[in-house]
Amino acid sequence: ELQPPPTHVVVFAFHAQGHIIPAFNFSKQLASKGLFISFVCAEHRMPGVRKIHESQGSSSNIRLAALPERVPAGKLGVDQGLESFEYLVDIAETMEHDFELLMLDLLATQQSCSSPGAPICIISDLFLGWTQYVADKLKLPRYVFYPSPAAALCVAMYLPNLIAQGLIPIKSSESTKERESDLISIPGIPPISPSDMPNALKESCPIRRRDFAMRNHLLLHKSSGILLNTFYELEQRSIEALQSDILNPNKVPIYPAGPILPEEIFGDNILHARPEIVVSGVEKECLLWLNTRLPSSVLYISFGSIAVLSASQIREFALGLENSEQAFLWVLRPPPATDPTQSSIAAILPEGFQSRTQGRGLILSVWAPQLLILSHPSTGGFLTHCGWNSTLESICNCVPMLPFPQFAEQQIICNMLVNELKVGVEVKKGADGLAKSSEIEKVVRYVMRSEEGGKMKARAGAMRKAAKTALLETGSSYKNLEAFLHRRSKTRAANGQDEKL
Ligand code: UDP
Repeated sequence: ELQPPPTHVVVFAFHAQGHIIPAFNFSKQLASKGLFISFVCAEHRMPGVRKIHESQGSSSNIRLAALPERVPAGKLGVDQGLESFEYLVDIAETMEHDFELLMLDLLATQQSCSSPGAPICIISDLFLGWTQYVADKLKLPRYVFYPSPAAALCVAMYLPNLIAQGLIPIKSSESTKERESDLISIPGIPPISPSDMPNALKESCPIRRRDFAMRNHLLLHKSSGILLNTFYELEQRSIEALQSDILNPNKVPIYPAGPILPEEIFGDNILHARPEIVVSGVEKECLLWLNTRLPSSVLYISFGSIAVLSASQIREFALGLENSEQAFLWVLRPPPATDPTQSSIAAILPEGFQSRTQGRGLILSVWAPQLLILSHPSTGGFLTHCGWNSTLESICNCVPMLPFPQFAEQQIICNMLVNELKVGVEVKKGADGLAKSSEIEKVVRYVMRSEEGGKMKARAGAMRKAAKTALLETGSSYKNLEAFLHRRSKTRAANGQDEKL
């Protein structure tokens, strides 16, 4: 008997690690449901994607398609895994024509035993808003892949109202102390102070970046649905608000289908327990070192793939860590070298720091195996910039956090972790924007060694359990993904595209 051909969908990921990683995991999930995926991404990211694809023995139902980059040579690009957001925006804005050509090509494909036929929808990242125009032109539905929390989506969907209220761009506060009356009300999240709003909406943000964010946020309302990397039990209030007329007048369907993470996180056969899969040098180095430490004794420190700390902030962290007497694994990449004396890590760290913390601290200056580190029983805390992927990875490994938010919606995530979920304590910055070593030492001691720190770990554990349950066949995220797949097939019939397949 002939199998019906798989349904073909295009998943177009934005070319930053924090977007590609969940988009690829999501593609794997769709492929496991029997769909055929064309995974599209900017060329410079493809080698990395191909490596993940091959190393994980991913489904043959995922085909990779690279789009060329048309950014003038010599612009600041990717360096040791760190990337400048400006560069990412540059690339995003030059891809429309090539994407349209690729889509036309895919749409012209005849179905055969080696090809699934024409794609029936586009799932594209929040930051690739212009794909909506391509989708409209080609009469295909566009679904948004939203790799941030529902709380941030509440802010994004409320943007037309914020504009109407004259609140955008958000003015810089004149005084350092904000008053109660300054708080902005947004359905689905607690009243928020202007300074905690996403940077891209602020007056202080370069206009090009602000326009980029606004355009992409406003286009959310035109999409056929939004797939979210979160789950109902984690963000109930925000998710419910997203169904309301005030946030969602066009009734765009919202599908919280997360946490979208590699399956093995929730299995018993977790990464660190399988040394045979740990092949690369840095993975082995981390694993061997973590194996020598006591349970929950290591503080893991990383600020994701984009954030860069200043040399003075790095020095404050070093002093704070040294004085805390805590074991640490620190992913530390040097800041861009404007001053040649500051370009190496050794030149930035306080004199003698590395020898004084030898054995107790491990510093990595390369891309770290974050999931392996977070899943290791020796890891007991995560000093994080609150990227949403890092946050979910931490929660799902029962690791309490020490949030040190940097940009985008990270302050909103920090507030959620500290005030609502109570799984972390913020490392606070002073009026000069620097977190001092004494503050760092205090928070490290509290989260890693106090009774309350233990309670935070237990709360993270309860959330991990809720996440696992949401993904089961009877769970909320599973059902939402089914609802998406079901709706999509209805769209397909409505578009009269069945006979094409
Ligand atoms: N990551 C990693 N090694 C690193 C830095 C980051 O594996 O050295 C991964 C991390 O596990 C997460 C993603 O990269 O999946 C970063 O995404 P996140 O949303 O946390 O932050 P962003 O980089 O987007 O600011």
